Amino acid sequence: MKLLVVGAHGADFVWRAGGTIAKVVEDGGTVLNLALSYGERGESGVLWKEDPNRTVDEVKKLRHEMAQAASDILGCEFQCYDWGDYPMILNEERINQLANTIRTFAPEVILTHTPIDPFNPDHPLAYEAVQKARLLSAGAGVAAAFERIDPPRWFSFEPHQPELSGFVPDTYVDITSVFEKKVAAMGCMKAQSYLKDYYTELGSRRGNHARRISGIQSIKFAECHQSCVPVVGNINILKHQR
Ligand SMILES: [Zn+2]
Repeated sequence: MKLLVVGAHGADFVWRAGGTIAKVVEDGGTVLNLALSYGERGESGVLWKEDPNRTVDEVKKLRHEMAQAASDILGCEFQCYDWGDYPMILNEERINQLANTIRTFAPEVILTHTPIDPFNPDHPLAYEAVQKARLLSAGAGVAAAFERIDPPRWFSFEPHQPELSGFVPDTYVDITSVFEKKVAAMGCMKAQSYLKDYYTELGSRRGNHARRISGIQSIKFAECHQSCVPVVGNINILKHQR
């Protein structure tokens, strides 16, 4: 599988998709982990508190090192567009940049934020950027006047406050075999260390839900996502995957 993860900020992937990334890699797939910004202004509070005299460039460098270290543990490539955060600005050039990445990497699956997040100004913008860039890279699923790829499947990963972001999970990924890697990768994000315990606990809770939905008792930890487009496949798509 080729998976593209698009996070608005440098650490978003690790909490919401770290297990899914590691699982794709474990199964022999390839993951491109793309951050649209480092989250240097809005999501690096500890780094600014530690040393208020730090420059934006220094914070970006630290965030890059953390995301790179976490990506190395998960086994994916990390890239950052460095678009700036809080606020992130979208324009035609940036949408085209993302569309080119999608066209070149040609992922089968894209994971990104939800369209609604009342607690974050940039996460819905990442969704909007992916929505437009995905269509520019894939067209309408038929021949077009531009070079195109087959439309990738597309999911939103779980936001921090799912109910208030309109998130209804419909897809649970068993991440039991790679959960220790996710915990280790989360440990790299020292600018947001307060989230590690929260997402460890959430993985266990989602694992409980996955067991009850499927009856697959071996699932201890899971991540859940919401599909943005319907599922198409052979008859096995109707079954739980054991
Ligand atoms: Zn974020």
